[in-house]
Amino acid sequence: MTFTIIFLSAFFLSFGIRYWLAQRQIRYVAQHRDVIPAEFATRISLVEHQKAADYTIAKLRLGTIENILSAIVLISFTLLGGLEYLNQQLTQWLGNGISQQIALLCSIFIITGVLDLPFSWYKQFKLEEAFGFNRMTLKLFCLDLLKGVVLGAALGLPLLWVILSLMAEAGPLWWLWTWFVWTAFNGLLLWLFPTFIAPLFNKFKALEDGPLKIQIEQLLKRCDFASQGLFVMDGSTRSAHGNAYFTGIGKAKRIVFFDTLIEKLNPGEVEAVLAHELGHFKRKHIRKRLLVSFALSLVVLALLGWLSGQPWFYFDLGVTPSLSGYNGGLALALFMLVSPVFGFFLTPLNSLASRKHEYEADNFAAEKSSASDLISALVKLYQDNASTLTPDPLYTAFYSSHPPAPLRIANLKQSR
Ligand SMILES: [Zn+2]
Repeated sequence: MTFTIIFLSAFFLSFGIRYWLAQRQIRYVAQHRDVIPAEFATRISLVEHQKAADYTIAKLRLGTIENILSAIVLISFTLLGGLEYLNQQLTQWLGNGISQQIALLCSIFIITGVLDLPFSWYKQFKLEEAFGFNRMTLKLFCLDLLKGVVLGAALGLPLLWVILSLMAEAGPLWWLWTWFVWTAFNGLLLWLFPTFIAPLFNKFKALEDGPLKIQIEQLLKRCDFASQGLFVMDGSTRSAHGNAYFTGIGKAKRIVFFDTLIEKLNPGEVEAVLAHELGHFKRKHIRKRLLVSFALSLVVLALLGWLSGQPWFYFDLGVTPSLSGYNGGLALALFMLVSPVFGFFLTPLNSLASRKHEYEADNFAAEKSSASDLISALVKLYQDNASTLTPDPLYTAFYSSHPPAPLRIANLKQSR
């Protein structure tokens, strides 16, 4: 009973904070809809500013509905007995063993995936479409979905089988062995992603010879960075939003530009954006994030190792563990459903660290490339992505991985 109360308190508190912050952000953006912040007045038109406000608000409204639905789903699975029902039905059908536990986890993935589908569809073909960002066809949407499911099954099912076997056979330290497997699996994914996974969804071609390539190669030399090539990705087949990213580890590192980014920015601005990304690498942000995530997964698995042996963990969340003692999949399912409720409270810490890294990467770009090019690139990206220039300070503090545009630009102006 105690854990039911703790869970419900965390559930209502996190739901309440989420809702309250979203409403604050909607109100704040709406209040500032008609006045462009002074420092952007010469670069952004009122129409663009208002489009950003409307886009931000539309996304938040949709997010609120999604939150309500996922809260209902969570309570239905746990305290209202959905998981218990599924578990019993599958036990009758498949008996008590790993295949039953895999079936249980798969049914949860399928149910939540199906419930999420209308939202993804609406987001792409109604919301993004209405603001002129959608470039995706329904055919591509379905194809992506199909590929995602096949890929998820090909990678996820063997992993799940290994983890459930460890839970069943490896003794009290199963969580430690699972952590080694999990870490190795993630390392493998990082290595496979650029060469095998990303090309399933997008076309990559080498950046063409020309002034941009020369400029970028000079930047890489200046920053002492070796990469396995510069690529342009056909991001325009899905969305008008532009971006650039790094991918891969060790010698397999690649730099990828969305074609939409190269279309919109001049070579100096592309260089500045890349210098920012290089800053994340050179200031060891990527390495730190990776280490933090490995350490965190060890803590999480140790916690799961302990919880999975506590009867109250099951009973207080509305399920009855099997008497034969094998409940690996059930514990995993409960943990996956319930842990985000508690993890939510760590969001501001994560956002704070991320914003600090963004400033450091901006400063790196100002030093190795050009602060004024980065400023003009940022303004263009904010304009093109219809990102709001006037976010609610509290909403930003809680969620934002990037500092608000006015603060980033003020910081860059200082370093110029
Ligand atoms: Zn960044």
